[in-house]
Amino acid sequence: MDLILLGLPGAGKGTQAEYIVKEYNVPHISTGDIFRAALKNETPLGLEAKKYMDAGELVPDEVTNNIVKERLQEDDVKDGFLLDGYPRTLNQSEALKNNLQDLGRELDAVIYLNVPKEILIERLAGRYICSNCGATYHKLNNPTQVEGVCDNCGGTEFHQRDDDKPETVEKRIKVNEEQTDKLVEYFNNEGVLVEIEGNRDPKDVFAEVKEILQGKTLN
Ligand code: ADP
Ligand code: ADP
Ligand code: ZN
Repeated sequence: MDLILLGLPGAGKGTQAEYIVKEYNVPHISTGDIFRAALKNETPLGLEAKKYMDAGELVPDEVTNNIVKERLQEDDVKDGFLLDGYPRTLNQSEALKNNLQDLGRELDAVIYLNVPKEILIERLAGRYICSNCGATYHKLNNPTQVEGVCDNCGGTEFHQRDDDKPETVEKRIKVNEEQTDKLVEYFNNEGVLVEIEGNRDPKDVFAEVKEILQGKTLN
């Protein structure tokens, strides 16, 4: 199954990706995660991406397109993938389209998580992440079951993302808003867009995702 998760920062892409990966066993490809890993390892890519990430801006398309192109050639992607946070611009959508054409495959669904902007700001402000496994939580909406212990891996260290500071958050939402509207239109025209109301319990969101994907695999 070849899937894309689309939505503004904080819409719940990473959270739904965790559920989808467990249920459908597809590799989770998050360009944000790839950039953060590169940054942590201080690779040239990481140092280049840092400038943009710190400012809440998008890393240039050329850089991002190349990374995804290479990633989609790896072995584990043969039976499917879940792209999270890519494409984010029309240029990236076109690049992906060409890529998939070359690989002889087609998107099954683009799942658009629609969440009002005011909600996104409080979600990002309360987001924290397990430093061991990367699982995502929220101080109020979605805390760990046992305080201070990751549900997924038992880890006890957590951190906030540098770009979840209020100043950067507003910039990120603004930068992504214009692009997201265009992407929604683009994928709607391609006939693969599915819009989901993302402003409700994560488990309810996932229940709808599952319904949609069930329809896809039966087709
Ligand atoms: P969020 O989970 O808040 O949507 P991401 O983790 O996807 O954010 O992305 C973090 C940052 O990484 C972005 O602000 C941007 O600088 C960079 N980035 C991630 N994906 C892309 C992309 N497809 N194109 C350009 N920049 C990207
Ligand atoms: P994205 O990857 O789109 O930036 P995340 O999945 O990281 O979004 O979610 C952003 C924050 O909102 C996290 O703190 C997460 O725990 C929380 N969150 C995710 N989905 C929901 C939801 N349906 N309702 C309330 N909070 C949510
Ligand atoms: Zn963990």
